[in-house]
Amino acid sequence: MMTDRTLTIRARVNSRANASAYLKRPGDAVIVDRQGPRWLVLSCPCGCGSEVPVNLDRRAGPAWRLYESPKGTSVYPSVWRDTDCESHFIIWRDNIHMIGARYGESWADEVEEDEDDLLQRVLEVLSDRDQSAEEISDQIPGSEPWDILHVCRRLCLLGKALEGRQHARGHFRRS
Ligand SMILES: [Zn+2]
Repeated sequence: MMTDRTLTIRARVNSRANASAYLKRPGDAVIVDRQGPRWLVLSCPCGCGSEVPVNLDRRAGPAWRLYESPKGTSVYPSVWRDTDCESHFIIWRDNIHMIGARYGESWADEVEEDEDDLLQRVLEVLSDRDQSAEEISDQIPGSEPWDILHVCRRLCLLGKALEGRQHARGHFRRS
């Protein structure tokens, strides 16, 4: 697995204006929380120095989901800057994986120890209807979409699941 940066949550603050002071190094991050997480603001992992705001609040438009567990902090789906450095990255269990042509896409080659258990649970949830990794994750307490995506792709290789094409990429059903 190619790990490029560590995500470090430096603080939880109640206003976005208070975030900047904590963002000193690439991968430094602050959670803006006002009765629930509103923003993850991080210093761009590419090192360009930009502050990257990631919306976590569905009421404020397209939103990412934040997962916090003893294994670390994850954000789903990937974050893609469409300006300046145009970095594209995945935040998975406190690791920031840069993806795209410059970096390769080998972020999930590692097999987790507890994966066989998750594999069984995913199989139970798969149906003959396409479901996104997020939908599948919502039915398995304690799971995160990145793990689900990884397990589903493994099930495809084993011939037990099918992945949709084009707009249904990242959606899976029982084969
Ligand atoms: Zn950058």
